[in-house]
Amino acid sequence: MTQKEKPIYVTEPNLPPLDELIPYLEQIWKNKHLTNGGPFHQQLEDALCDYLDVPYISLFTNGTIALITALKALGVSGEVITTPYSFVATSHSLLWNDITPVFVDIDPVTLNLDPDKIDEAITSRTTAIMPVHVYGQPCEVEAIDKIAKQNNLKVIYDAAHAFGVKNHDVGILNYGDLSVLSFHATKVFNTFEGGAIVSPDEETKYYIDQLKNFGFVNETTVVETGINGKMNEFSAAVGLLQLQYIDEAIEKRKAIDVTYREGLKNIAGIRCHSQAEKWQSNYSYFPIFVEDKYPLSRDDLYEKLKTNGINARRYFYPLITEFPMYQELASIQVNNVKVAEDVAANVICLPIYPELSKQDILSVLEHICVAP
Ligand SMILES: *Cc1c(COP(=O)(O)O)cnc(C)c1O
Repeated sequence: MTQKEKPIYVTEPNLPPLDELIPYLEQIWKNKHLTNGGPFHQQLEDALCDYLDVPYISLFTNGTIALITALKALGVSGEVITTPYSFVATSHSLLWNDITPVFVDIDPVTLNLDPDKIDEAITSRTTAIMPVHVYGQPCEVEAIDKIAKQNNLKVIYDAAHAFGVKNHDVGILNYGDLSVLSFHATKVFNTFEGGAIVSPDEETKYYIDQLKNFGFVNETTVVETGINGKMNEFSAAVGLLQLQYIDEAIEKRKAIDVTYREGLKNIAGIRCHSQAEKWQSNYSYFPIFVEDKYPLSRDDLYEKLKTNGINARRYFYPLITEFPMYQELASIQVNNVKVAEDVAANVICLPIYPELSKQDILSVLEHICVAP
């Protein structure tokens, strides 16, 4: 096997045709409205409400600022229950609000926050739950909703992986008090950098829009210690164009998912992530789990792929709880995230993106099949 000249990355950003972007840019240059709720910003909010089947959306400069603002908008404080199996921005958004994260273990099948373990982590200081729809797989939203209601807690979903996902035909972003999206370059839908908060009512959206613009309500009045979280017109224009191609992009991802599943189904020791019937995926990631029967360890397989020009990633390893700023927390002293530790030790996310070629997919499969 010859070394590949160009590595295969775990993801490559989706870009719309450049010639179709030019008229949008000409429009921006013409009206000189670069940010602060320009025409494309408005159009993208409307288009996303339609596409995602949600009532209100506020566009942001990125997903992390959106998470930080969502917590602020709901006045969340004290302790928040969250998952260690996510990208570090989830719990960093808590620390930026001086909130103590309380890490609870994940379910071994969904890999999302385990609802059965939430109750025992609730204290008098708990004010909210921040679950993540990891790899776009919906959390157990009904169970989480019930616990939240019983204990008077807010629920903010980190839905950074869940663009366009449906649960029993309902858009997944309609659950909880707020849902937060990321439109970072690596995500299924990107605006280079970007993010959004989905709100259930106009009042909440209005408040969030104040918070993302320094707390201004008009030219001279500042009512909150807001932040600058506004999406600019260039990103909004890219988003409008991306949206025209999103269904096609998800279809291409789906075909890759099917090919991987078929190619891996008879390999002892390689397990694919579950695929529930009742939810509609966006095929944002393709995690596999390297188990004992496989002739190589997870890290050896990871290194082997890398040597052969395949840059798979061990999302989410290390767990968030391994990072230094979380080491002193009480919730991690009791070693209660065993399932998450196990999953993080076995996972590899394989390359998946719309333009991944058939030849590259087969090359990935070949390197996994012919072990060692
Ligand atoms: C990407 C991501 C974020 C952060 O979004 P940015 O737009 O990159 O700031 C937050 N949470 C999760 C789970 C993510 O994957």
